Amino acid sequence: MDNRDLKVLPYIPLRGLSVFPHMVLHFDVGRDKSIEALEAAMAEDSIIFLSSQKSAETENPGQDDFYHIGTICKIKQMLKLPGDVVRVLVEGINRGEIVNFIEDEKDYLQVEIKDHAESEKVKKTFEMEALMRMIMDSFEEYIHSGSKISPEVLLNLSDIKEPGRFADTIASYLPVAIDEKQLIIDKIEPKDRLELIQDILEKELEIIKIEERISRRVKKQINKVQKEYYLREQVKAIQKELGEGEMEETDEIRGYRAKMDEMELPEEVVEKLNKELDKLARMSSSSAESGVVRNYVEWILDLPWDKETEDSIDIKKSRVILDEDHYGLKDVKERILEYLAVRKLTDSLKGPILCLVGPPGVGKTSIAKSVARAINREFVRMSLGGVRDEAEIRGHRRTYVGSIPGRIISSMKKVGQKNPVFLLDEIDKLSGDFRGDPASALLEVLDPEQNSTFTDHYLELPFDLSKVMFITTANSLNTIPGPLLDRMEIIRIAGYTEDEKLSIAKKYLLPKQMKEHGLGKSKLQISENTLREIVKSYTREAGVRNLEREIANICRKAGKKIVEDRVKTVRINSGNLKNYLGNAKYRFDSVEEQNQVGLVRGLAWTAVGGDTLSIEVNIMHGTGKVQLTGKLGDVMKESAMTGISYIRSRADELKVDPNFYKEKDVHIHVPEGAIPKDGPSAGITMATAVISALTDTKVDRQVAMTGEITLRGMVLPVGGIKEKVLAAYRAGVKKIILPWDNKRDMEEVSEKVKKEIEFVFVKNISEVLPHVLIVEDKEDSYEN
Ligand code: ADP
Repeated sequence: MDNRDLKVLPYIPLRGLSVFPHMVLHFDVGRDKSIEALEAAMAEDSIIFLSSQKSAETENPGQDDFYHIGTICKIKQMLKLPGDVVRVLVEGINRGEIVNFIEDEKDYLQVEIKDHAESEKVKKTFEMEALMRMIMDSFEEYIHSGSKISPEVLLNLSDIKEPGRFADTIASYLPVAIDEKQLIIDKIEPKDRLELIQDILEKELEIIKIEERISRRVKKQINKVQKEYYLREQVKAIQKELGEGEMEETDEIRGYRAKMDEMELPEEVVEKLNKELDKLARMSSSSAESGVVRNYVEWILDLPWDKETEDSIDIKKSRVILDEDHYGLKDVKERILEYLAVRKLTDSLKGPILCLVGPPGVGKTSIAKSVARAINREFVRMSLGGVRDEAEIRGHRRTYVGSIPGRIISSMKKVGQKNPVFLLDEIDKLSGDFRGDPASALLEVLDPEQNSTFTDHYLELPFDLSKVMFITTANSLNTIPGPLLDRMEIIRIAGYTEDEKLSIAKKYLLPKQMKEHGLGKSKLQISENTLREIVKSYTREAGVRNLEREIANICRKAGKKIVEDRVKTVRINSGNLKNYLGNAKYRFDSVEEQNQVGLVRGLAWTAVGGDTLSIEVNIMHGTGKVQLTGKLGDVMKESAMTGISYIRSRADELKVDPNFYKEKDVHIHVPEGAIPKDGPSAGITMATAVISALTDTKVDRQVAMTGEITLRGMVLPVGGIKEKVLAAYRAGVKKIILPWDNKRDMEEVSEKVKKEIEFVFVKNISEVLPHVLIVEDKEDSYEN
């Protein structure tokens, strides 16, 4: 090999592109290595080597991932774009071939290239000349057969005399895949290149011909369908002129009319139905359109225009029913009875809509069902979770293919009475987007001034919803749209203590599930202790949904055992519980963990009820960085920084090394699942954890706390106390530290909990520390 032909150049692999000699190309470069290569080239003589990458997806290609033959190019222009991307304009000079990858310490790829420069005076044989003419003809035909290449290209081509350059120029226009283009680049000899291009062109022309044939055939078919449709319409029009169509009142239509007569329908509805039935009569019964009309008529006839149940609001009886169905929930039941009493006195449903708010499984749905039973109405439930399109509530217009009414009207059809108790579940999960605002459609549904003429897009007829009793539920109030919230009367259900759950299981869930599984009274016996163990070791929730599921599980397995093994009674105790439910899912006495430095138990309030969460802090030698991890929201991060500022300003008092913010790194982590956490209420918990870590003092695991912290160390009140206290109680906490101003929320906390947990109310973080930090055998103490 002639060494003069070898040169070392910076190298960029191209993704999804190829470049030919004499071709001008621009592309964007984002990979660091490639940008470095560009800069290195610019520092020399702007010459760079480019070849294609075999697969555009490879992010860090190795030597075998590129094509070794490519193009030596000159960089004409470089432009920095936003986002660390550089746009470059290059012009191809010659073919080059990688003979060696240079391994040195550079940050970019470098290759040794053999330059395959083509001399201007390559000897043009007759054969080459013939090939060039043939290619020119084929290419012309190709351009004129509808390709996107501009015919002006032909003019330029006719000026090119050198066979190699001629071939490369055409190749750069051909819309073929990268690997096929590479085949052309690989051809060093101009003659080989010309032959290959002629082959490719012929193949492309053949494909175009086949495409044309297929498209002609499809067009012919479409024309035929259109013609038939047109003729059929004409026949219909002629029939109508002759008065023939109207004679065809089939049995089907007579059936619809009879049904209409039986119902008491508003005038508007009667008119609309008559019009539609006349239309149907004129149609051929097998046409697609008649199906649409039939569907519409059936929807209207299936709606409860005139059906309603008779109310019986008797407060005493209602109380009995509510008690029959639900354990506890005294306040909730009272509020509902008051609500019913007002409805009875005013004899109208106008007024606020009840909204039951609480974590999942606390009985919101089943209370709404009880209300229906108590006042002798039917019950229907519709979930709003994930509803984002107004059309889901109000339906699609009939012009859409396959349209049906919205969910409100569908639910009314399902329940078959015009005055049901209608539960709108998960109203806090409603969301809006570009397809309209479902919340405003819902507002119309709930507004007594407007809902007597609720119009679904599909029905195009007003339907009276004013007799419906709407009840809504939500997990949290935060995400309910304001105008909806204004219409509602909020009733909160917080969650249950272990004892409450036990009673619910014993008196309600177990009998209910046994009945549902066909187990007679004596067939299944579960001792109270075992039930308690199910509550503690197999569920961790504010409500009782999973508890009910586990009980159903046991009933199913017990049923199987009775049938299979012919036993009379199945008895479940602590010993055999595992056989039915598997190993315990939760360790219930989580406070038995050891006291540790920098680990503090906080209390959180999420949409699924209260929860305890541990906050961990590690202190390391460093440079004063503060790191926060564990899916924390912005407010929580700010609250951590506030705590640290406070500690810095009181370093002496807190017996913390005053230089910690320069010499130590602080890492705060909130483990437990990937649930996003936010809000200021972990302020004192994080501050306490940091102080514990900085002073190397252990923290009492039996204590839990919640409260916002200010720069001056003041402790501010927070929300969700009842739920948080319940969660702490479930976790077996012995002492809870709360902000002073949250004392007023203690009314909501049950006596039993108050008896078992010690509550401490604080105004300043300094009052927190003596309750949690365990000062072992140290002379200093935090107590004054
Ligand atoms: P939510 O609608 O709040 O998610 P559900 O109404 O679906 O909860 O309740 C789940 C199950 O728990 C139901 O079977 C319900 O009857 C039962 N349940 C909840 N709370 C009580 C209670 N206080 N007394 C009796 N059963 C209850």
